[in-house]
Formats: sequence, structure tokens, C-alpha cells
Amino acid sequence: GLILGIESSCDETAAAVVLCGSETLSNVVASQIAIHSPYGGVVPELASREHLRNILPVVRAALREAGATYNDLDAIAVTEGPGLAGALLVGITFAKSLAFALNKPLIAVNHLEGHIHAVLLEQKMLEEQEKRKDNELSSPADRSSSAGWEAEGPALCLVVSGGHTHLYLYRQFEGAGGPSTPAASKNVGRTVDDAAGEAFDKVAKLLGLGYPGGPWIDALAPHGNPHAVPFSFAQIKAKVHRKNDPNALDPSRMTYFSFSGIKTAVLRHTQVHEMAAGIEARRAALAVISDPKPSDALPLCDQSTLDLVASFQRAVVDDLRRKTFRAAEAFGAATVLVSGGVAANRELRVRFTAEAAERGLPIAFPSLTLSTDNAAMIAAAAWPKLVARDFAPETLTAVPSLALGRG
Ligand code: ATP
Ligand code: MG
Ligand code: FE
Repeated sequence: GLILGIESSCDETAAAVVLCGSETLSNVVASQIAIHSPYGGVVPELASREHLRNILPVVRAALREAGATYNDLDAIAVTEGPGLAGALLVGITFAKSLAFALNKPLIAVNHLEGHIHAVLLEQKMLEEQEKRKDNELSSPADRSSSAGWEAEGPALCLVVSGGHTHLYLYRQFEGAGGPSTPAASKNVGRTVDDAAGEAFDKVAKLLGLGYPGGPWIDALAPHGNPHAVPFSFAQIKAKVHRKNDPNALDPSRMTYFSFSGIKTAVLRHTQVHEMAAGIEARRAALAVISDPKPSDALPLCDQSTLDLVASFQRAVVDDLRRKTFRAAEAFGAATVLVSGGVAANRELRVRFTAEAAERGLPIAFPSLTLSTDNAAMIAAAAWPKLVARDFAPETLTAVPSLALGRG
């Protein structure tokens, strides 16, 4: 089960070779951050052009690093959506041509399912290692009851990135070695406006920090007081209540996030406290540094800016945490998985981990490189489809607003 994964849905051109959904042989990402940075966001036309320029070298590098040839591959997997139409098309057209030329199956992968597999990929890798260790070292009685959480209930997955803030109830399939049935996912939460990562990006931009904003805010927040500025979130009420117990959480309800209000609140705060001059000065100072880093911004931030950044991050992380664990409880989830670019956030990891420990719930995050967009997660998500021979038609095309799971 050697799969070449290709990902080009947004602003990274990525290719990876993954064995049986659990062993990453290579994972190459060409980021376009430097190209979009001056615009403070992804420019679709530039993204497509860069994907075109990068796709062949990136695929070649992935094969070279994996020590594999085109002929060794069992399938080509590619992101079908959601994402930017033109960007997706570059990957899809390339993958289709490759599959046709090599006469190998083509597998279409939902980018969001990919993000979930970024966590599962590493979990499976750990399980495999554990199994190997157990077989070598211990008596059967010692073997941990790592039958896995799959058996105990669904996983509650928070996919939180620049374009998405979704909760999924996800039922796992068999482990890496065994046969798999396609996983079932149900969408149980979403944002009604901006994604959480988008809020990080927009707030960083309006404070005169760099792009993408997440890593900048992550780095600066520990220097500020997270209780300095009180932010609040609209609690979007569920319409459905359980009949006999109006206070009980209803498992059939959706969780709603909203992150456009906090961006406006940050903007208002800067206006009320007359921070504009400082922001402009910082923006100008960073503009003349080539490849500026958050550490360059720190001396350019006064305490009230750092407090604002810290308060913003705390508010977003708290809202994500509260709603995620409330949903996990409502659905009787056996584990919590968090993935997507914002899952790289350090405060998020610390606070989610603490709450999970308090509740006795296992929690897992991808390593930092697999949190943001990559192709290893696409190749991993394709593995159960290869086993199920769930192949894409020759007519495969980009689906920019592809959804995951039943609503
Ligand atoms: P999609 O939403 O389609 O998955 P994307 O390119 O936005 O696409 P990712 O590459 O997974 O998805 O995530 C990028 C986002 O993650 C950006 O908004 C970025 O600011 C945010 N991000 C990255 N690192 C951090 C961090 N340490 N803290 C907070 N946010 C972060
Ligand atoms: Mg990205
Ligand atoms: Fe993504």
C-alpha cells in the first residue's frame, strides 16, 4: 500500500509518500507564505501559478526522499476539495495525468478528512511501534489493552485552520495493517462566519504584525496579560432541546462558532485606546526587515498591545475548548482529536490537554509539521479507500466547497 499524496488546495504545494496509512516515507511542502505575505492573505491567481511552478519538483523530491520510483506506487491520491478552484485543479490535473500515464488508481481525498488523518497517521504509527515492542519484549499478559479507543466510541475531531472551524464525530476503521471500511463522519459543529485561523490572521494584520498571524500571536501572547481585555462570544443557541430535561445537552444539536465579532472588538479596542500610531510604526518597521520574525516584533510592541494579543488568544482558545469538550460530552466521545493550522497553537495545546486530563479523556494533536497543510495526511486518508478500492473517476474535478460528513 504505497501511496503518493498530492495537496494543492490553498497556499502550499505538497507531495508525500506514505505506506499503508501509517508510515511516512517522505513529506515535502513548498510553502508560498513569502509570496502572499505582502498581501496579508492568499491571492488565488498567484497561488495557482506557484502550484504550477512547484508541483513537479515537489513530487520528484517526495519520491526521491522516499527512495521510491513511480513504478513502486500503488495509487496516486489527490485533494479534491474544499479549497481554491484554480489551486485544486493544478494538483488534480497533475495527479490524473500521472495516474493515467502509470496506469495506477487515482484516489480523491477530502482535505478535511486529510486533516483528521494527520492525527490518525501518527497515532497508528505509535500503535504499530508499540505492537512491535510488545511482541519482542513482553509476555502476552503484559500486552497493553491497546485495543484502541476506536472500540469504545467515536472520536470528536476539531478541525481548526485558516479556512475551517469544524467539529466532526468520527468513527474509526481498523488499524493500519487490517482491512478497513471507510470511516463515517458526521458534522456536528461549524463556524457561522470566520474561521478561527482567519481571526488570528486578521487580528495580526490589523495590529501591524506579520502573515500568517497565528505563529506571531502565539509567540507574543505569553508576554501579555490574558485577563487584561474581556472578550465575549455570542452563544448561538441550539433550537432543539431534549424534551424531559431542558438542561441536558442534546446530542442531535449542532455547535456553532463565530469569530468575526472578536476581530471587530479588537479593532474597536485599538480605536478607543488610540493605538493607531503605534500600529503604523510597527508595520513600517517590520516592512523594512527581510523575512521578519515574531521576535523582531516583540520590541516594537508596548504592554497594552501584548495584553490585547494575549487576551485575544485566550478568548479564542477558551471558546474552542469549551465548545469542543461540551460536544465531546454530549456525544459520548471516547477521544478528542485536534488538527489544522491552529492546532499548532501552544496555548491551545496546553489548555486542551489540561481539560482532557481533568475529564479523563484521551486527546491527540498532530506533530507541528502535520498540523498545517501537507500531503502525508492526504496519502494517509487515501489508504482505507485503496483497501476498499474506492477509486476516483477519470472525470474527477475540483470541488471548491466540498463538505465532509452528513450535517
Ligand atoms: P484550510 O482551512 O483549507 O485547511 P489553511 O491553509 O488555512 O487551509 P492550514 O495550513 O492548516 O490551513 O492552517 C493555516 C492557519 O493556521 C492560518 O490561519 C494560521 O494563522 C494558523 N496557524 C498556524 N500556526 C498557528 C499557531 N501557532 N497559532 C494559531 N494559529 C496558527
Ligand atoms: Mg495553508
Ligand atoms: Fe488545511
